[in-house]
Amino acid sequence: LPINEPRSMQQSRNRSALLMVMQDVTQAHRMEQLRADFVANVSHELRTPLTSLMGFIETLRGPAKDDARAHERFLGIMQEQSSRMLSIIEDLLSLSRIELDEHARPSEEVYIGEVLRKVEDVLTLKADNRDMPIVIDVPDQVPPIMGDSNQLIQVFQNLVDNALKYGKPGTSVEVIVRREEAKLKVDVRDHGAGIPREHLPRLTERFYRVDTARSREMGGTGLGLAIVKHIVKRHRGRITVESEVGQGTTFTVTLPIS
Ligand code: ADP
Repeated sequence: LPINEPRSMQQSRNRSALLMVMQDVTQAHRMEQLRADFVANVSHELRTPLTSLMGFIETLRGPAKDDARAHERFLGIMQEQSSRMLSIIEDLLSLSRIELDEHARPSEEVYIGEVLRKVEDVLTLKADNRDMPIVIDVPDQVPPIMGDSNQLIQVFQNLVDNALKYGKPGTSVEVIVRREEAKLKVDVRDHGAGIPREHLPRLTERFYRVDTARSREMGGTGLGLAIVKHIVKRHRGRITVESEVGQGTTFTVTLPIS
């Protein structure tokens, strides 16, 4: 400290140093808490289908040993539970891969129209099954962005997939691209049940779901929007959501053009 500094000033400096140390500790504590919560969530998410699998195995070896119809039905459920566990593990792996190269800036020239066409190809069957046409609107001459095309496909695939899962059968899902100065804005809009306001800030948390039963029934893992958030962050973009209960939901991804 400078020698001639008045005593009160010295004290206040010491105090701010102390405050900073305390904030560091709080931050470290918070990270530790988040990590512990995450491990608890993963364990819970995997344990549920695994417990049910074990129950069915036991039944098939015991009471239902000679019941051919029960075999068929239980094996069907067991297949569903296994594929649910696989989806959770695949999403977790995606998430950790994205986090690993979060600091490496993506460097491909990516045209958003091509990304959205690929998303449409992948989801067209699901859209037909739910009688929900996907309407894509990209203006002519949209400049490319610097990105990672596979990751951007994943972003819009997750958002459109959610719109199909939680939207209303018979209504459309719209994907609208706009250019605003040096940014591209992409709206993904559905006309489903909407999301009550109190849930909006937490949607991108891992395993956060508004309606767990519905998410599971639709094959959700609760990780889709967490993946979206991380990829968008790696692209120095932003994701926002607007929703009205009974009217529908719009997710907007903003990406810098250069
Ligand atoms: P999930 O695999 O459960 O769909 P996500 O992380 O993709 O997980 O989404 C988190 C939750 O946000 C979902 O479980 C659902 O409750 C809600 N949600 C996401 N998108 C929509 C949407 N378009 N309309 C209504 N609810 C949505």
